[in-house]
Amino acid sequence: MFSHPSQRDDLQSNNPFIQQHLIAHLLNISGRTLGGLAAFLSFVALCGYAFSMPALYRPLAHGAATHPLTAVVVMCLGIAVGVQQSPTFRKPTQALALVALLLCVIRLADGFLHTHWLNSLTPFTDQVDRDINQGMSNSMGMNSASMLAVIALALILYARQCPLASQIVAFCALGIPSVSLTGYAYQIENFHGQMSLFTTLYGICLSFSVMSLTTRLGVIKALLSPFIGGKIARMQALLGFCVPFFLGFMFVQVFAIKDAEYFGIFVILICWFALTLVGVSAVYHEYVDNQRRLSERALIKAATHDSLTDLPNRRKFFEAAEQEIQRTLHAKHQAWLIMLDIDHFKTINDTAGHAMGDKILIEIAQVIQQSTRKSDIKCRLGGEEFAILLVNTDFQSAQSAAENLRARIASAQVDGYTNIYGPVTASLGLSQIETNDTLSDALSRADELLYHAKREGRNRVIYTL
Ligand code: GH3
Ligand code: MG
Ligand code: MG
Repeated sequence: MFSHPSQRDDLQSNNPFIQQHLIAHLLNISGRTLGGLAAFLSFVALCGYAFSMPALYRPLAHGAATHPLTAVVVMCLGIAVGVQQSPTFRKPTQALALVALLLCVIRLADGFLHTHWLNSLTPFTDQVDRDINQGMSNSMGMNSASMLAVIALALILYARQCPLASQIVAFCALGIPSVSLTGYAYQIENFHGQMSLFTTLYGICLSFSVMSLTTRLGVIKALLSPFIGGKIARMQALLGFCVPFFLGFMFVQVFAIKDAEYFGIFVILICWFALTLVGVSAVYHEYVDNQRRLSERALIKAATHDSLTDLPNRRKFFEAAEQEIQRTLHAKHQAWLIMLDIDHFKTINDTAGHAMGDKILIEIAQVIQQSTRKSDIKCRLGGEEFAILLVNTDFQSAQSAAENLRARIASAQVDGYTNIYGPVTASLGLSQIETNDTLSDALSRADELLYHAKREGRNRVIYTL
């Protein structure tokens, strides 16, 4: 329950941020789950080798297979990304990502230098050799090695506190399996970058998984923004990927492109280009929109709050209190209004200076904030006068709240004043909100009681004439 409108306004303006935070958290969890899933499936592929069940590492008969070393690297990365955020596992996960990177780099070096360094490190070589002898492909291709090396690099960058670089590198890594996936989706034979469907899925899972570690910054944050920039960017990102992808599919199907080996790369480059444009403009849009939101908030604060004490001003008080009075009376609850005026404030100014007067006003405002409930509506009416609407309060609670406030003011220490001139005191008028009352009616009654308190000798609460 939120007791008055200002609090409800605050909550509404916070809601989009809560949503964004929740979505980011959810993506983060799903990302880590994807990492875990990739690790599990690569373990299943290794089981396929261990128990001679080729379907577990070669999903399409006579298609590409997930090489045992690829499965080992994916397992390292999947485990590393799955437990990345746990501080206990930070060092081991970095080590796992490093091992994965090293294996991929050796594989790439083998490819470029025509060496065979990695053979001795490969498990289940008998099975691999048997596959090759039977005329089936089974190797950790350069594409798989590059993809996994880039993912490992992204993970290491994240662990080394470079999350933005990690996000960009993980996005780049996504390009390689996307090309392969396009080949499968378009049913192009012998497309460039062909890798096992499983390896393709591992790559996609792992890239998303690493990106999901950085949902609270950069492009992903901008894409998740609950504001207009984020909404437009999400729509554009979806179209930026889907339109070129489906157009490509149509081209392959309708025009039956024969030599389509590089077509997947072409389509993915177009998607990539579109997504990069959307991402960069989303980041810029979010930045500009955030500046605008901050200025708007500052303007609203300036228009509704007192700049010296930071309490709501008279205008905000009238707006909030009138609504609250209607609500309270409608619910047949009691509400009480306090009017508070600092005693001899002119003398304080004259003896200790205007700056000390200001300091005392700030101190009293703090005492008011601390002595009342969050749901009570308070304001600086002007000068050295304050008003507090005590909502859902019976007479005894209102009386003790007012008395407590008076006593706290009288015992407040203001450095440079109370130690020299003695305590600062205030007089209070306490009036009940009657049925059919307007706020002005209640204020003038409380004002009358307040001046009665002044006449009675100040530093007191008066609630009846
Ligand atoms: P009483 O006990 O009867 O309330 O006497 P008082 O001196 O407090 O009341 P009075 O209305 O005579 O004086 C209020 C003074 O408050 C006059 C004004 O200069 C001073 N004042 C109003 N706003 C501010 C402010 O923002 N800062 C400071 N330092 N003084 C202020
Ligand atoms: Mg006054
Ligand atoms: Mg006064």
